Amino acid sequence: MKLLEIKHLNKSYRIAGKEKVSVLRDVNLDFESGEFVSILGESGSGKSTLMNIIGGMDSDYEGDVIVQGKTLRGMKENEIDAYRKDKIGFIFQSFNLIPHLSVLDNVMIAMQMTDSSMKERTTRAKEILTDIGLKDHLHKRPNQLSGGQKQRVAIARALSNDPDIILADEPTGSLDQDTSEQILELLDSIAKKGVLIITVTHSQRVANFGSRIVLVEDGCIKEEQNLKERYMAVKESEEKKGKNLSFAASFKLAIDNMTLNAKRNILVATGGAIGILSVVLMLSLGNGVTGYLNDEINSSLNPLLVDVVKQTAVEGEAKMENRGPNQQTATEPLTEQDYDVISSIKNVDRVEKITTITGKSNVVFNDKSQELSSLGTVTDSIKAADIKQGALPAENEVLLTADFAKKLSSEATYTSLVGKKVNLYINEMNEQNQPVSVAAELVVSGIYEQADRGPISGSNAYLAYATLDKAFSKQSLSLLPSQLNAYAANIDDVEGIKAAVGEAGFTSSPIASIMERITTYLKMASWVLSSIAGISLLVSGIMILVVLNISVVERTREIGILRAIGARKKDIRRIFFSESALLGLFSGVIAVGAAWGISILLNNIMVNSFGVGLILLTPQYMLFGLVVSTLISVIAGVMPSSKAAKLDPMESLRYE
Ligand code: ADP
Ligand code: MG
Repeated sequence: MKLLEIKHLNKSYRIAGKEKVSVLRDVNLDFESGEFVSILGESGSGKSTLMNIIGGMDSDYEGDVIVQGKTLRGMKENEIDAYRKDKIGFIFQSFNLIPHLSVLDNVMIAMQMTDSSMKERTTRAKEILTDIGLKDHLHKRPNQLSGGQKQRVAIARALSNDPDIILADEPTGSLDQDTSEQILELLDSIAKKGVLIITVTHSQRVANFGSRIVLVEDGCIKEEQNLKERYMAVKESEEKKGKNLSFAASFKLAIDNMTLNAKRNILVATGGAIGILSVVLMLSLGNGVTGYLNDEINSSLNPLLVDVVKQTAVEGEAKMENRGPNQQTATEPLTEQDYDVISSIKNVDRVEKITTITGKSNVVFNDKSQELSSLGTVTDSIKAADIKQGALPAENEVLLTADFAKKLSSEATYTSLVGKKVNLYINEMNEQNQPVSVAAELVVSGIYEQADRGPISGSNAYLAYATLDKAFSKQSLSLLPSQLNAYAANIDDVEGIKAAVGEAGFTSSPIASIMERITTYLKMASWVLSSIAGISLLVSGIMILVVLNISVVERTREIGILRAIGARKKDIRRIFFSESALLGLFSGVIAVGAAWGISILLNNIMVNSFGVGLILLTPQYMLFGLVVSTLISVIAGVMPSSKAAKLDPMESLRYE
């Protein structure tokens, strides 16, 4: 059985869909192991085309190529890939080494697609390189070598997978005469071991070196000439098991290539990071602001509390023209009857009457009178912890805010007001519309350090509803609460009580609902801002897509080389996939790092100016940033990766 037989091989190219141009015509050739065959012909005679067909790079031909009794026609794509990897070693005129890999890695790359161990591969690659005389250049890059040395690396790479056939397309075309001879000697020594060497040349001198010359003219075999006997050594051909380029190997390739284009990749990653950074910062800001507001609301409002007010529409033009939700409303006092209605709602534990008197009242202490802008009744929202000195007001007592107490006494002595008697006067009108002065002698129960609650500003002084009620009764006036606080026994009952309050014709106090609305708006605003920032994510995705596309174009040749030495489409896709994933991860790391730094910086500034930092960057957001960045990049990489995988290896190698 011959090692390689070519039978009735015809090949034609169809140029731009027009008529076919015949390049090879009825080629019939036999090859044996240990032969060193020179295919001699002028430029354009079809020599490279023949090599590509033998090498399994081109399957668009008529006739048969039979290797060890097996025809290439009808082999599946993965079988052809395996054939290229295991049986064939390619050597090219222009060396076709991968520029960003070391000499050692260039030789090991083909072995990475076999199931040999890393150690075996390294040992074998070093062995071959030593045999070939490159022992001292293992870690150099191709551009640090001379032409002859580069071709030796290419030969070492072709030998790495122990092929049965070496195809060398003009291997000495770029070398001077002396170096050419050394390379030919080297190839001859390989033939001695029982490998079939087929070289292509247009030089009679080079052709004379081999054991047989095949003269090609215009796609036809013109003449065959035997120069000497083939080498009879028997090369044992072992069955090799192929495997995919491992993820580790593809990541290594990706990292090597990325460091080669470090500047560009850093710029791209930084550009991509800006999008992720703004999204993460916006989410963190939204998170911080809503968290802050929720804390503020929860600390001033009891969760068991359902506040009840009675609203009436304001009469007038607004009502006539606009009956929609914008209708003006005002609250009106609640009656004893209302109190009973609310008290009888299911699950209501207790009901508290509250009211606020704005203006028209003053407190007198030691002949000093101080006007109260607001007098409120004590509710649960006043926390004992906020009382600087003294206690909550009991019957006939009053709690003063620190600010008010300072005005009534002085900055230095205001705390000594606790336990002192003060007089409260309220100017009211009776039913006959006559002015009446409501008066009460009260003991100061304590000083209250009111928390700054922003929009919910409190009163200057607080007293029990009953105390105020009694003072009003003395003047035959009835005090009506402006609001009722219904307390649920259980947090689960709150919603039910709220609903029942609504059904009975009352509403919850506007402050609580305004706060609720504010937090809703804030959440919406934070999402809107994040979505706008999300547009920049799209931009970074497109940018990465463009860069990977450029990378595919730049590396067309490298892809061709990898395919020629047996890489599958899958392997090529994997290399580009690794690169896009790495780029995305890198960009995510920059983004999260920057978000972290910026949040610390801004929070510091905010704490200094407002006393509170509003950017709450959580580990979840950081993880989100990393994952989204990698994901976008991987998605953007899908198109360029499959474009790279689909490249025709033959075309890629023609590409300059
Ligand atoms: P050689 O290697 O002997 O110089 P080739 O085999 O490269 O010649 O080319 C033989 C002929 O086929 C040339 O005329 C060349 O222009 C043509 N040819 C080679 N590749 C292609 C291709 N991909 N498409 C069209 N024509 C091609
Ligand atoms: Mg050629």
